[in-house]
Amino acid sequence: MKLHEARHWVFDMDGTLTVAVHDFAAIRRTLQIPPEDDILGHLAALPPAEAAAKHAWLLEHERELALTSTAASGAVELVRELAARGCRLAILTRNARELAHITLQAIGLADCFPVEQVLGRDEAAPKPEPEGLLHIAKAWGVAPTQLLMVGDHRHDLDCGRAAGAGTVLVNLADNPWPGLADWHAADCRALKAMLD
Ligand SMILES: [Mg+2]
Repeated sequence: MKLHEARHWVFDMDGTLTVAVHDFAAIRRTLQIPPEDDILGHLAALPPAEAAAKHAWLLEHERELALTSTAASGAVELVRELAARGCRLAILTRNARELAHITLQAIGLADCFPVEQVLGRDEAAPKPEPEGLLHIAKAWGVAPTQLLMVGDHRHDLDCGRAAGAGTVLVNLADNPWPGLADWHAADCRALKAMLD
């Protein structure tokens, strides 16, 4: 696939379309999650009552972050350019869907992503699981290999690889995972320039 020919774009949200604000180390400390553990994976393995309480705390914490989200460099321009070209757009986030809407509203992109094309941690198994991408591909009626997964974290690249999608890493000056990223751009502004 050539980047400028890609018609089906799936974006991670936090740290990809927004300026990253999550302090995952602090979240782990508050929720008593070991530093090496995956946060959502850890919560999923807890007894139901404890998991529910910690999920509730996480949701409120992330709601506050969502309300004050700011767009990452070039993110709004990139998404609007893709929308103008008629590309299909989706969000696959480990955040909650309702908070994704709050975040997208805060950065002025809510109109670009229909509700059913915003998958959060309750709509599909969280990244790096490929389920969310496979769901989106099916909904669009295309092979997963037609998708591009754009993100700022290894989870996004692993998810894309597992689904057979193309992978794009943004918002890191250097690419720590050259074997996992098909394309690398310093930010969404640079990625948009790569479409010309
Ligand atoms: Mg991210």
